[in-house]
Amino acid sequence: MAVTTVTGHPVLPALPDPATEALLAGGLLPELAHAFGGPFHFLLPDAFDTNLRSLYEALATAGVDGFVYFAKKANKAAVFAERAAALGAGVDVASVGELREALGHGVRGEDLMVTGPAKDPHLLRLAVQHGALIAVDALDELDAVITRAFGGRTRPARVLLRVLPPLQPDSRFGLAEEELATAMDRCVTAGDALRMEGFSFHLSGYALGPRAGLAARLIDLCRTARAKGLQAHRISIGGGLPVSYTDADSWRAFLEAQRPADYHAEKTFRSGDFYPYHSPLAGAGALTALLATRPENSDTTLAQVLRNAQVQLLLEPGRALLDRAGATVFTIQGVKERDGYRLLTVDGTSLSLSEQWFGSEYLPDPRLIPQPSMDFENSGDLHEPGECEAPGGAFPASVGAATCLESDMLTWRKIAFPRRPRAGDLLVYPNTAGYQMDSNESSFHDLPLPPKVVIDWTDRPRPRWRLDRHFTS
Ligand SMILES: *Cc1c(COP(=O)(O)O)cnc(C)c1O
Repeated sequence: MAVTTVTGHPVLPALPDPATEALLAGGLLPELAHAFGGPFHFLLPDAFDTNLRSLYEALATAGVDGFVYFAKKANKAAVFAERAAALGAGVDVASVGELREALGHGVRGEDLMVTGPAKDPHLLRLAVQHGALIAVDALDELDAVITRAFGGRTRPARVLLRVLPPLQPDSRFGLAEEELATAMDRCVTAGDALRMEGFSFHLSGYALGPRAGLAARLIDLCRTARAKGLQAHRISIGGGLPVSYTDADSWRAFLEAQRPADYHAEKTFRSGDFYPYHSPLAGAGALTALLATRPENSDTTLAQVLRNAQVQLLLEPGRALLDRAGATVFTIQGVKERDGYRLLTVDGTSLSLSEQWFGSEYLPDPRLIPQPSMDFENSGDLHEPGECEAPGGAFPASVGAATCLESDMLTWRKIAFPRRPRAGDLLVYPNTAGYQMDSNESSFHDLPLPPKVVIDWTDRPRPRWRLDRHFTS
């Protein structure tokens, strides 16, 4: 088991991904870095397709009728909405901007799910007009939907009632028990203006037991609602399918080994604040396991409970659809020697690698791609592959941003690089499409927003690329 390196710093290798490896091995990334003159993200939409297809396969294998909505907040790129539309999936949106983007990239109105608290009146109006499914979060919001649905429309407003999870009573989302009863009665009173299609939840955390239990509770609620004459034939279990970024041994060894001396300025992170970078069950595997789970007080699996009740299962995965669907490329601008390690400065900011903004750090090891250092100080000094190679990661370095903020670090951890990082080399952070790329990006310091490049391998020996249409806005 590779626990630590010769310098004593733990490593966290990303799981191998052939598409990313092929790109790293080719010459395209240095060309793009040169062309854009700054950091950029590349997107691998084929991975999105694969992830989406495996979710539908998991549903089919379990004999469960289901529908998948891509949670758009996880990545702003247009290409993922396009792929969702092309593969017959929906998109989960929470703003007028996201709704407009999804419609504009081919997602039909009735394949949209609108979530989020206290939705803007304009968003509600558009949602009703386009026949989108609205996850209602509060009683006053339900009243607002009903008012709009009565506004001379021929089409009923479609709603789910979002449930406050009993195990997360402090959540600010969802309707509490008594509110649900009131909401159902108001749906009955609204008559044909409204189609009450069922219930929804979104849980934080990744445990299967509470998800299966709450899903079963929602199915019970569907029965109650049907007894009142409502349609109630669907439940949404939200997102939260985990992604595994590294293998089990590396993750365990990392958590055991890491200590303040492994970080620049002896910065400490609480282990519990890290994303669980290894999950024994991830993506479609986690869905399969969830469907095979027996909810508490039930003697059949969740799949069977759904079938018995003839309830359709809706999912809103964000991160899980984006597993391996992209990476982020920076160029090293400068290297500073410190006691026992180096401080690298790259040509971008931690806004393009969001984890820092949640008091945490994106841990999968970035890959160093050596380049001839012609444009920099030691010009003409060709960096031959293997030249600076040392066994076991003898070149630890932390990674800072090209900004004037002390705290703007992409990686506080001393990454154990196998060769000496130099100005001009590329640094590729793997598997960043889910939440890392653009949830926090701004043109801080008047730095341009990193463009997104869509990589297309279809039927060709060398990849083609284009800009994602969204990148300028
Ligand atoms: C954020 C969110 C999701 C997506 O969650 P992931 O963890 O990315 O799968 C789905 N539904 C709702 C309501 C959300 O807020």
